[in-house]
Amino acid sequence: MENPFLNAQKQIEKTALKLKLDKKTIDFLKKPMRELKFDVSIKMDNGDIKTFPGFRIQYNWARGPTKGGIRFHPKETIDTVRALSAWMTWKCAIADIPFGGAKGGIICNPKEMSQKELENLSREYIKQIAEFIGPNKDIPAPDVYTNSQTMAWMLDEYEKIVKHHAPGVITGKPLELGGSKGRTKATGFGVAINIREATKVMEIELRGAKIAIQGFGNVGVYTAKSLEKMGAKIIALSDSKGGIYNPNGISVEQAIEYKQKNGSLKGLKDTKEISNEELLELECDILVPAALENQITKENANKIKAKIIAEAANGPTTPEADEILHKNNVFVIPDILCNAGGVIVSYFEWVQNITGNYWEEEKIDEKLDEKLTKSFSQMVVTAEKENVDNRTAAYILAIKKVVDAMKLRGWV
Ligand code: GLU
Repeated sequence: MENPFLNAQKQIEKTALKLKLDKKTIDFLKKPMRELKFDVSIKMDNGDIKTFPGFRIQYNWARGPTKGGIRFHPKETIDTVRALSAWMTWKCAIADIPFGGAKGGIICNPKEMSQKELENLSREYIKQIAEFIGPNKDIPAPDVYTNSQTMAWMLDEYEKIVKHHAPGVITGKPLELGGSKGRTKATGFGVAINIREATKVMEIELRGAKIAIQGFGNVGVYTAKSLEKMGAKIIALSDSKGGIYNPNGISVEQAIEYKQKNGSLKGLKDTKEISNEELLELECDILVPAALENQITKENANKIKAKIIAEAANGPTTPEADEILHKNNVFVIPDILCNAGGVIVSYFEWVQNITGNYWEEEKIDEKLDEKLTKSFSQMVVTAEKENVDNRTAAYILAIKKVVDAMKLRGWV
């Protein structure tokens, strides 16, 4: 298995060359500013005490309080959290929101835990990091296998500790606790906006375009829904148990209903079973990896037939695969821009919490579209001007902003 943090560092080095950064600045950028590593011990339903390793990594706060989600995953490692916290830093910079980057994680299997155990885990996690987070310090959010309920428990625990309300400490909350309209769908909707822009560059008609989506969690579901609404045809979908395929199109609503009832997509009528690997190599116009990191590697990059890859997941493409895709003229929408819709609406949520002024969904969708479209066009212009791939262009824009802030603070 590739180490995502080494990949994240390679991406920084590649960009540093373009930006002609000095060694001291590069060394600063290549490591997190603060790492918290701790035990999260909880009582399980059977009365046993179990301990899970937990992390919160605050990568860089030159541009503002750090921001980023919390994952509950059995395969979590400190290096995945390090990589994800770096990617959050660049994501907030390219999205032009005033945050640094962070990420958190607990090594656990939430699918084998009860709601009560998950609540205990969420509360205990917050106890461990409470002094290091806050609306002006570090602001967590949902990520893989966490959701608005997880955020509600975490908010409640934090407020018990600080003894006052502080909705701006965490985003992705339920609406009733100060969440934002449009936040649940924001990441997937943002992926669809990016795809809409990419089809204009590639001169592909979005109406009727064939889409394959790997991953059917929050991001995969809302990407599929938004693209279907824009007239595209979803021909393949998958979850951790495998994929389904129908070249004539799959109804997203039916897929959601079926998965809710049966626990997986497998067996949906009028679809053929395919593996997650086969899905990536399907004949389609647009491929959306919306699951985990390291899916497109040097082993399969040459077999990809899609003209556009929209990285809804964080880190789905390795640096070696990137070079192959660039050579093959595949238009990659890099993760730090492609899935930035989530953190952009998290920012809107934080602004609403701080001002106490709440917005309608229409206004949020519009502002999100405006922000993403602007960043997308800056990336395309930079890629052309610097004669680099889209990811390097996005990194040039993002890392320059972080370095400028570091310089102004006198850090480098
Ligand atoms: N976890 C999401 C991401 O990777 C959202 C982070 C946030 O809203 O802070 O971008």
